[in-house]
Amino acid sequence: MTVLSSSGKLLGNRAIRGQLVELADSGRLHHCLLFEGPSGVGKATTALWLAQRMNCTDASQADACGRCWSCRAIQKGHHPDVIVVGTDPERTASVISVRQARELIQSLSLRPHSARRRFVIIDPADAMNAASANALLKTFEEPPADTGFVLVTSQSGGLLTTVRSRSQQVRFGRVAVPELVEWLRQRAVEEPEWIGHLSDGCPGRALELADGQAEAWREARNELLEALSGDIQGVFAFGEKRAQGERSKWSARVLLSLDGLDRMLQDTWRWKVHGPLPAEALYNPRQRRRIAAWAEQLDARALTRCADAVLDARSQLQAFVNGRMMADALLCRLATELGRARRVN
Ligand SMILES: [Zn+2]
Repeated sequence: MTVLSSSGKLLGNRAIRGQLVELADSGRLHHCLLFEGPSGVGKATTALWLAQRMNCTDASQADACGRCWSCRAIQKGHHPDVIVVGTDPERTASVISVRQARELIQSLSLRPHSARRRFVIIDPADAMNAASANALLKTFEEPPADTGFVLVTSQSGGLLTTVRSRSQQVRFGRVAVPELVEWLRQRAVEEPEWIGHLSDGCPGRALELADGQAEAWREARNELLEALSGDIQGVFAFGEKRAQGERSKWSARVLLSLDGLDRMLQDTWRWKVHGPLPAEALYNPRQRRRIAAWAEQLDARALTRCADAVLDARSQLQAFVNGRMMADALLCRLATELGRARRVN
């Protein structure tokens, strides 16, 4: 996904790009960079941009021209010397396997095809398991000539310390929301303030939301809120209906519901702390009445218990716990806590 601002530059994280350019131009760029930061903030985009800039064939341009053969091939994912390693399509679990690591090492034993600097982008780097990470350790430390790695992760805790210690960390921050809102407005995105706010300053996430995900998010949240505002039979019927069929399909929807609920709880916390908030300060502006009621009726402990229930449900989803059990446990905990606010529409 290309994340360009109206001025033709990448949106946000200007200081990072400036530093990368300085290091690249002075020949001091580390051979193994670790791009860390929230998901959708532009890490992978910046990795591709760096590969473009260092291999652009138009010498008259200070930045990547975006038009030459090399720039376009990288953009389309066709460049033979810009290798992007994602999770193994042959495995059910999201993992970068030792098979992929071995193939990569094999392909790096050949000289680069045409690039001045060959790039290997590993995304998400936290998907490397111990076997694949260990297989690659030596290559991270001493890559072949003219080859650099960029490890991309939004969960750096999932990386082995031996991998971290061999790389130079580059921390990406969120884009300021007003800047992102302005950028969305220029792209004629509907409800730019809300989308900018909901994406938490992550342009990639904002584009996904603008591309239909915001509607799906709203629906999934409403569905869960509706189930929780009914009686206990309705709550369990929802769990039964939601967690059946193909796991990959329903779990995506449940994750959206959980995110929606999480944002409701965050709005409620802030309401409790700051008092009534205007709609534009809320993740859920159309749920103002419900947020006010929750803030009034749930104490800090109850809110913490709800947030914990959401957190547990998320980790159970990732750990492939039985869907129905996960949904029942979550809904039961939430229904107990939210019972007092149930009468509110
Ligand atoms: Zn170019």
